[in-house]
Amino acid sequence: MGSLADELRERKTLDDEGLRDLLETGDDSLVEELHRNAREVATEQFGRVIWLRALIEWSNKCRNDCLYCGIRKSNRDIRRYSLPRETILECCDNAWRLGVKTFVLQGGENPNGAVALAPIVAEIRASWPEAAITLSLGELPPDTFRLLRRSGANRYLLRHETADPVHYARLHPASMKLENRLACLRELRSLGYLTGLGMMVGSPWQTTGDLISDIRLIESFKPEMIGTGPFIPHHATPLGHFPAGSPELTLRIYSILRLMLPQAWIPATTALATLMPDGRTAGILAGANVVMPNFTPVTVREEYSLYEGKSRPGAEAAETLNLLIKELDKIGYHV
Ligand code: SF4
Repeated sequence: MGSLADELRERKTLDDEGLRDLLETGDDSLVEELHRNAREVATEQFGRVIWLRALIEWSNKCRNDCLYCGIRKSNRDIRRYSLPRETILECCDNAWRLGVKTFVLQGGENPNGAVALAPIVAEIRASWPEAAITLSLGELPPDTFRLLRRSGANRYLLRHETADPVHYARLHPASMKLENRLACLRELRSLGYLTGLGMMVGSPWQTTGDLISDIRLIESFKPEMIGTGPFIPHHATPLGHFPAGSPELTLRIYSILRLMLPQAWIPATTALATLMPDGRTAGILAGANVVMPNFTPVTVREEYSLYEGKSRPGAEAAETLNLLIKELDKIGYHV
C-alpha cells in the first residue's frame, strides 16, 4: 500500500485526517516522500524551470492596521513613500533587460494610491506589451479593480492569511472581515485577473485545523498563484512577541499544495528565505516553482519592512539575480 503522499499525488486530495497526519507527522521519511512527490509533479509540469517575478514595492502607505504587519498605519517609525512614475518604469526596464518578464507591483492598501497607479500600469502595458503585470494592493473597490484591469494589469495577489473567520478576527482590526477579502477574490476572478491567495504559516493562535481550512479554501478556489510563507514577528506590532512560524511546516504545505494543484505557481517566498538560509532552494525542492527577486530601489527597501529581518541591506537587483541563478544551478534548475 502506498503512503499518504502517494495517495495525495494520485487523488489530488486527502481527507482531513490524512492532511492532519501530513502536517503533524514526526516521520522524516514520510516528509521526504511528500517533498519528493511534489518535486516530481512540479518537474512533470514545468521541467526544471523556475519562473522569475520582479518584485517592486511601489508604496508602503496603508490604511489598515493588520496586527502582524510592520507597515501597518499605526507604525510611526517608518518613512512613508510612493515611488514616482519614472522610478517604477526604471525598475520594470531593469527587470526586463535582465530577462524577468513579470512585474509584481506590491503596496499597502491605499485606494487613492491605487487609482493614481492606474496610468502608470497603462504605461507599463504600452511599453512592455508582452509582460505580465501582477498587482498586490490589498482590498480595493470593484471599480478600482476594474480600472486597473482595463489599464493592463492581468494578475492579482491577495493573500487570505487565514480561512477561519474567528482566527482572522484575532489577526486583524474589527474593520477587516474575511468575507470581504473572499468577495474581493471572487470579484478579481470575474474581471479576468489570474488570482493568487495564500496564508501565513504559524501565525499566532493558528491550529492544524486552521491550516486544513486554508488548504480546503485553496483547493476549492483553485487559484493560479499561491503565496504562502511563515509568520515572522515585527517588533513594532502588537504580535511582535510571538514566535516565528516553522519553515519546515511551510515546506510541507508547499508540497501538499503542489500535489493538489499541480499547475499552480507557488513562490518560494522571501519570508521563508528570511528564516532559512537555503529557503529558496528548499522551497523549490519541496515543489515551489517561482522566485521573486527584489527590484525595489535599495534606497527605500528598509521602509518596506513587513516583518523582522526583511529589511536587511539588500543587494542591487542584478547582483541578487546572479546569485539566485547560481543557487538554482547548484540544485539542477534554471530560469
Ligand atoms: S498586511 Fe497589507 S493591508 Fe495589512 S497593514 Fe500590512 S500592508 Fe496594510
